[in-house]
Formats: sequence, structure tokens, C-alpha cells
Amino acid sequence: MSDAKQLPPNLHLETLAVRTAVDKSQYGENSEALYLSSSFTQPDCETAARRFAGEQEGYIYSRFTNPTTASMEQRLAALEGMEAAIGTSSGMSAVLLLCMGLLKAGDHVVCSQSVFGSTIKLIGTEFGKFGVQSTFVSQTDAAQWQAAMRPNTRLLFAETPTNPLGDVCDIQALANIAHNGGALLAVDNCFCSPALQQPVRFGADIVVHSGTKYLDGQGRVVAGALVASKKLITEKFIPIMRSAGMSLSPFNAWVVLKGMETLGIRMEAQSQRALELALWLESHPKIERVYYPGLKSHAQYELAMAQQSGRGGAVVSFDVKGADPAQGRINAFSVIDSTQLLSVTANLGDVKTIITHPASTSHGRLSEEQRLAAGIRQNLVRVAVGLEHLDDVKADLSRGLDMLR
Ligand SMILES: *Cc1c(COP(=O)(O)O)cnc(C)c1O
Repeated sequence: MSDAKQLPPNLHLETLAVRTAVDKSQYGENSEALYLSSSFTQPDCETAARRFAGEQEGYIYSRFTNPTTASMEQRLAALEGMEAAIGTSSGMSAVLLLCMGLLKAGDHVVCSQSVFGSTIKLIGTEFGKFGVQSTFVSQTDAAQWQAAMRPNTRLLFAETPTNPLGDVCDIQALANIAHNGGALLAVDNCFCSPALQQPVRFGADIVVHSGTKYLDGQGRVVAGALVASKKLITEKFIPIMRSAGMSLSPFNAWVVLKGMETLGIRMEAQSQRALELALWLESHPKIERVYYPGLKSHAQYELAMAQQSGRGGAVVSFDVKGADPAQGRINAFSVIDSTQLLSVTANLGDVKTIITHPASTSHGRLSEEQRLAAGIRQNLVRVAVGLEHLDDVKADLSRGLDMLR
């Protein structure tokens, strides 16, 4: 039931974000409709039988898919430059679907040791229970990935840039290692979003998303997705979605669908503010060190610029002054607690700027030793830059920074 116009070829990301997957009903609505329906009636038993057997297109039940979810999937796939996508109830359920779809007992995964904490737990601990082997390696050292490859390696999993320090891995190098070893490469593209980085262009096979972050962009819903070839989506992921049901609700799909319309302009504006903030922090007397892939001082600056459309993303972290860990923690807490504007929470990807103390929140379950190995000290503060005027953000940070001894 679509009177949508056939789109011209070679459209840019900003155009695709507002013009793809506009599946109009008979009313010709200009904004995408939201189909809140758990099931869909069938015109006759023969059609129903063909649809259930997968021989004919058509909606059946919203655990399988739904018109609004399908629109969100098409739009995200278009932005990633990929054939297909599948929406999931959260970013973590996208990782769960990925692992269930590609792995069985006896298979091996190579994963960066700096990926999202729950990803490490899911792949290392939970899938370990089912006989899946895993090796965790350095984010930035491709030789370690190569050395970890085994004959039974089926999947390499990376996330770039990482949280909270912005370490960047070379997607093309990892794709080559994966493909030479008969494995697939999955990349969690949360921090850049397709507006800045399309992992498929560098050889990745699957892109993992938490729609909760920049795709929604306004902190409203929890959502996720896998983006891949039509073959992988149909053969590996849809059958598991049908039986396991980590489905994206149509309402959340609609929020993400509409959120993606402003993705390009948000990522550009938020990255620009983040760069300006990082430069300001770098010259601030109360700051020891700034971690941001858009700074020339960052170890993978050149790679980040090549892979991320010349942008560093919107997350900036910094060590405040404070020699010993106890003083460092007091100083970091004081900077965070002195803010009157910024949101104190552990999320990111919002238009509201968020300030976080990683050592006591997102990375609080690690031992002090594990945290230090990951480079996360007690004096580290993370800022996920939003859309406020940057002068107001700087003034808010200055409240605490100016008081530090
Ligand atoms: C938040 C996040 C996830 C998990 O997403 P949820 O939607 O919270 O389940 C995965 N990877 C990265 C990089 C994240 O930031």
C-alpha cells in the first residue's frame, strides 16, 4: 500500500535519512505512520499459508516484523550503505541475536577487550556457558587479533572508537584478518553512527547498533539493530528473531525512524562542539590529559580522521588534576557535582550533554587493576556532548574546575 515516489539514485546520507522507507498508507501522510498492531489479518487461508511458509511477502505478527519496524530497518540499512537490517529490543539484544545467529558450541570469537562491558560479559561469560570460546585482545594492535585466530574462529567483534577513551581500531585491517581466516567481522558503530562511519565501506560484514544512543538521539527509547547483507539477515537472523523474540516494539522503531532524520546534522553539530570542548580542555591548567580521537595528540588521530569522515565524534574524556587515586576521585566528583546544567547519568548520544565518572559507574564492576589496564583512572571524567551552546557547557564545567587545587 505504497504511493511513495521512486527515489532517484545516488542520494546523500542526509537525503536518505529523511526520504527512504516512506511507506505511505492510502491517506498519503507526509510523516511516517506508526502501526501499533500486534497481528495482521490475512485476506484468505491460501495467502496466510504462503506468508507463514515464507513464500509470499506480507505481515503476520509483530514479533516477526511490523511495517514501522521494517521502515526503520530499511532507513538504517540505507544510511549504513548496506542491503538489510533487523531491529531488536535493545543494543544488547542485537549482540545476542548476532551471537545466536552465527555461533554454535565449539566456535571461537576474537573480541576487542575495550568493547561495551555487557558485550564482554555476554560473549565471554554467557556464551562461554554454551561452549563458545573467546579471546579478548588489544583494541589497537592488529597483530594480537591475527595471533588470536584459530581454525574454529567464526567471528571478530570490534567497537570503534571505544568508550570512554576513544581508542580507534583499523576496520579494514580486522576485516582482512577475519576474511583470510574464514570468519566474519562485526563492528559496533554506536559511537560514530553511520553519519560519521560506515564500517561496511572498510570491509565489515555486520554492523551492530544500540538505537538508544545517536540513532534516537534524544534519549527516549531503548532499541537496537543489526545491519548486514540480505542473505545473512534472512538466513541467520530472522529465523532466530521468530523463535526467540527479541523484537523491537513498533513504537520504539518509529521513534528511532524519526530520530534518524536529524542524525547527520546532529552528529555534525555535536562533533564540532566536542572538538571545540576538547581543545579548550587541552589548554586548561586543571586538566592533565584529554582523550578525543579528533585531537592531533590522539594516538590514532590519522586513522580516526580517515575512518570517521574527518570527525572525532561527540564523546570527550579527560583526566582532571589529582596525583593519587583518592584525590583524583575527589576532584572528578567535585567537577561533576558542581555542574548545574549537565546531566549526571551514564548514558550518551543525547542532545542533552551528559557527564559521567566511568570508574564508579560504567566501569565500576571491574577491579581497580582491570580498570588501570583499561586506562580508566579515578580522575577520569567523560562528557558526551549535546546541543547546548558550548559557552554554557564550558561555564558549567568551569564551576568545578576553577575550585580544584
Ligand atoms: C549502550 C551501548 C550498547 C548497548 O545498547 P543498549 O541499547 O543499552 O542495550 C552497546 N554498545 C555500545 C557501544 C553502547 O554504547
